[in-house]
Amino acid sequence: MSEAIRFEDKVVIVTGAGGGLGRAHALLFAKHGAKVVVNDLGGSTHGEGANASAADKVVAEIRAAGGTAVANHDSVTDGEKIVQNALDAFGRVDVVVNNAGILRDKTFAKMEDTDWDLVYKVHVEGAYKVTHAAWPHLREQNFGRVIFTASTSGIYGNFGQSNYGMAKLGLYGLTRTLAIEGRKNNIFVNAIAPTGGTRMTEGLIPPAVFEQLKPELVSPLVVYLGSAACEETGGLFEVGGGWVGKVRWERSNGVGFNPLQGFSPEDVAASWAQIGNFEGASHPADTSQALGAMLTNLQKYVKLG
Ligand code: NAD
Repeated sequence: MSEAIRFEDKVVIVTGAGGGLGRAHALLFAKHGAKVVVNDLGGSTHGEGANASAADKVVAEIRAAGGTAVANHDSVTDGEKIVQNALDAFGRVDVVVNNAGILRDKTFAKMEDTDWDLVYKVHVEGAYKVTHAAWPHLREQNFGRVIFTASTSGIYGNFGQSNYGMAKLGLYGLTRTLAIEGRKNNIFVNAIAPTGGTRMTEGLIPPAVFEQLKPELVSPLVVYLGSAACEETGGLFEVGGGWVGKVRWERSNGVGFNPLQGFSPEDVAASWAQIGNFEGASHPADTSQALGAMLTNLQKYVKLG
């Protein structure tokens, strides 16, 4: 049995916590002793309207269970207001869970600028604004945990979700760099690609499966990633239905052409099977490991420095 994970004196912001996955995260953080800022604008899945009661209800639930929470009704695109609310209510911020999200599914052929922009604004700009406002405080106190909510639609693609997939994998790019920049200040940053039965997935998942994909089956991973016990950073995890797995990049050993002679499109065609051959593939963990194969190829032919 590992040590209990507790959050006494820690302040956690969960965005989009008025329902679905965010609500479950907020309740579990509070159960583990955190002071929680329950943020939710309370709009529709398409990002229309606003309603304060979503966040208020979750705060009432947390308080009824003996926990500590305040409601915040700002949009994540006003991230500095949400962080200020945490500072005003509790004097600090330790953990940011970027969870708020909307969907505006359309095939790329029918995609309109508004669908593209709104999805970018809530998922990417919203996560940027909240995290960027919290960042100086996390650095100052030499502790922070940040979780971004990606999606399998970003990792693998999904019909009708070009805007959403762009935003969700963008958040993983953000995760990777913040993990590098945050490490020296004990700020660890990870991303999850969850699956849960929420209003966002209702009607898209067969009802019998939907029923079992309880949001509560995502939150234990989020609470762990938000804890001081977690030393992971830059990770991407798929989670849902009681299952958790880690995702990583895999790269084939590739083909090295002679850089002094150059190579032709026909050379590429002739080597296509080898370029895509994953036998003995590697898993670069950073850009220097990634660039290593290219440099090794260059060094076969030229002296570098
Ligand atoms: P949900 O619609 O129940 O929850 C999203 C919440 O975000 C809502 O309560 C909504 O009011 C809030 N929100 C939307 N725009 C906001 C804004 N501008 N500011 C503040 N709050 C805002 O959906 P969910 O399934 O719980 O989704 C939670 C997160 O998980 C989203 O980022 C979603 O993209 C992601 N996700 C969910 C699934 C899934 O299977 N449910 C799969 C992959 C990713």
